[in-house]
Amino acid sequence: MKPIPKFQYHSPESLDEALALLAELDNALPLIGGTDIMVAMRNGVSAPDHIVDLNEISELDYVKEENGIIMIGATATHAQVANSPIASKIPSLIDAVSRIGSPQIRNRGTITGNICNASPAADSAPPLLVHMAEVEIQSSDGKRSIPIADLFAGPKINSLKPGELLTEIRIPVPPVGSASSFKRIGRRKAFTLSVVSSAAYIQMDGETCTDAKVAFGSVAITPIRVPEAESLLRGSKLDEETVKAASDAVYEAVKPITDVRGTAEYRKDMCPVLMRRAIEQCLERIR
Ligand SMILES: Cc1cc2nc3c(=O)[nH]c(=O)nc-3n(C[C@H](O)[C@H](O)[C@H](O)COP(=O)(O)OP(=O)(O)OC[C@H]3O[C@@H](n4cnc5c(N)ncnc54)[C@H](O)[C@@H]3O)c2cc1C
Repeated sequence: MKPIPKFQYHSPESLDEALALLAELDNALPLIGGTDIMVAMRNGVSAPDHIVDLNEISELDYVKEENGIIMIGATATHAQVANSPIASKIPSLIDAVSRIGSPQIRNRGTITGNICNASPAADSAPPLLVHMAEVEIQSSDGKRSIPIADLFAGPKINSLKPGELLTEIRIPVPPVGSASSFKRIGRRKAFTLSVVSSAAYIQMDGETCTDAKVAFGSVAITPIRVPEAESLLRGSKLDEETVKAASDAVYEAVKPITDVRGTAEYRKDMCPVLMRRAIEQCLERIR
């Protein structure tokens, strides 16, 4: 096993202290669970001179709901989110985070780390995309918020500037008559990255679909939504013909690659299948 390259470890106890450290230190990276970054360091993919551990910053450790917004603090673990009282309001995210890795990974790893790592296979990304999440970003220069889609800049590349920290994930509380679902295919049932994944969000008014969002993981350089499919679903009765047209739109839109986990052809074929399953589960959940 390769040794982890030497680095200096910092453990700030406040957000201000962390932001000051990130502003002043060269080649510094934040760490929360360490379940991605330590693997990258061990593999020689990442070699920071400084690690800024965020775990002692209690002001970033929360899952709460205020004024119609669900807020997830940066250091809240997958397990904390899955077991929180707001879990039933964001079912696709809970489908995803309650199956990431293993209990040990879920007790250390975070949604923040999952999306900042920016893998196209990040399981929490499709649910956050269909729930129209925003992320709050802070640096020593101030604060900004961006839609989750703008965080993903490329495979394992996020859009944060040096010195910036993702501090909070915000999800609008979904309206009555809506539901979401996340489906994934892995090479095993657990403890494995997704070969392909899909999340759907559906809102119904009686028999009519008034809002639809569909998103996919591991089929492009970043997790993506497919607006062409969404506009076909929206305003329809979600009948067989419409879902088939939306499935065709998804098949055309996704551009997966072949890698060690699966072939491009298999991934492309599975996208419409997973989307259908996710839509069906949304309808069951709404009922
Ligand atoms: C055995 C194993 C199984 C796994 N299974 C899955 C799986 O099934 N599905 C899946 O999606 N992933 C899986 N993963 C990957 C990993 O566990 C997740 O991506 C996890 O959510 C990462 O969170 P973390 O807190 O550990 O991130 P960390 O490793 O601490 O950080 C990840 C990256 O984000 C950056 N970062 C951390 N916090 C911030 C912040 N506040 N602001 C800006 N940048 C930040 C770090 O610098 C680093 O680059 C697995 C990993 C392992 C080791």
